[in-house]
Amino acid sequence: AKKNPNEPEFMQAVHEVAETVIPFIEENKKYQNKMLLERMVESERIIMFRVVWIDDLGNTQVNRGYRIQMNSAIGPYKGGIRFHPSVNLSILKFLAFEQTFKNSLTTLPMGGGKGGADFDPKGKSENEVMRFCQAFMTELSRHIGADTDVPAGDIGVGGREVGYMFGQYKRLRNEFTGVLTGKGISFGGSLIRPEATGYGAVYFSQSMLATKKENIAGKTIVVSGSGNVAQYAVEKATQLGAKVVTMSDSSGYIYDAEGIDAIKLSHIMEIKNELRGRIGDYLNKYPNAKYVAGKRPWEVKCDVALPCATQNELNEDDAKALVANGCICVTEGANMPSTPEAVIVFQKAKLLFAPGKASNAGGVATSGLEMSQNSLRLSWTAEEVDERLKSIMLNIHASCVKYGKDKTGYIDYVKGANIAGFVKVADAMLAQGVV
Ligand code: NDP
Repeated sequence: AKKNPNEPEFMQAVHEVAETVIPFIEENKKYQNKMLLERMVESERIIMFRVVWIDDLGNTQVNRGYRIQMNSAIGPYKGGIRFHPSVNLSILKFLAFEQTFKNSLTTLPMGGGKGGADFDPKGKSENEVMRFCQAFMTELSRHIGADTDVPAGDIGVGGREVGYMFGQYKRLRNEFTGVLTGKGISFGGSLIRPEATGYGAVYFSQSMLATKKENIAGKTIVVSGSGNVAQYAVEKATQLGAKVVTMSDSSGYIYDAEGIDAIKLSHIMEIKNELRGRIGDYLNKYPNAKYVAGKRPWEVKCDVALPCATQNELNEDDAKALVANGCICVTEGANMPSTPEAVIVFQKAKLLFAPGKASNAGGVATSGLEMSQNSLRLSWTAEEVDERLKSIMLNIHASCVKYGKDKTGYIDYVKGANIAGFVKVADAMLAQGVV
């Protein structure tokens, strides 16, 4: 804490890992030397830079850009870019730290990184977003590359922003390489990448439920968020026969007792992705639904909860409400959406709880598949990518069970994910010497 003042999210993420990994290290001599854990919590490199751009009124605007290059032991740095006014060093370091373990869990050769800027895309014109992305990439381009560091999307960065950043990278470097993932299909993107995080979280939920001989079909599901991850989690859960009754954004949540089916979801996608509107606009078309302003959906009765918006969006009281309402499974689609106190509530109640670094790894895994396709200069079919995604999620689940199952049969997915993620990175670091 002394070394990283004012970085509560980073400390939170490190604590959570240390709690489960330190006892494992104590039992395994091999990992006790060469300051392994101390090296893992220290970013290999942090780049902070000025991003200057001109808004539509001709005013000069200044933002702060970042790239955290956390760990490259098992592959080039890999992790998304976030554009949100809350972005700061602490949040990006927590995300880059988590990413290192997550990428290790996918079994693909990707190190950990994360980046972003405190730019708020809300209310900006198309041209302003483009100029910002170009200004951001003008500096970032010096620090990344297909074999060095391969960024992707995250909150506030979707296909549109990745496209603008890719265009600028290509213009500056005069090379067409797989330097970013989440690209459009016409210029090297992978089928299923937009869907992958949400789909993967639902596949992971299926595996979790199967350990209790339960099935996702017929379950009532509460989802938070209405962005990329939430949209495709809802799509896949609905396809598999579940009923999703809520979605949300930073203003509030909608509750539709009849379920958000495929047609209703396509309306939400139009509101959020094209009109760039608010989730409450849903009621203009579906007035039977309810809109609850300023709240998160955890008070709604459900069997399964999928938090898919942002960090620390589900606190201890929310967790208690979910448990009291009979929820049996919480699968994180977002990164660290549950506070540490909420996780304790879930684990004490012995419900199925998966941390984002395991259950939302489908996105980066599919980004890894995009990198492979770019290197091979070919593209796989949607079915092929989806099959690989499913098997990667099954493997991650198996790793969590391997390291997280206790004598009573309870699976501690937090412990399992942390140890399984740690082992691969630690082995690679030990083999590469003290660097
Ligand atoms: P989007 O920008 O597409 O969507 C984010 C959603 O979360 C929006 O509905 C947004 O509401 C809401 N949200 C953002 N900040 C807050 C906040 N402070 N309070 C309440 N709601 C908020 O992002 P993604 O769907 O890509 O990302 C969602 C989460 O999933 C993040 O934690 C991200 O790190 C994680 N993730 C994403 C991956 C991906 O492939 N995209 C991969 C793995 C993890 P509003 O519109 O009001 O801002």
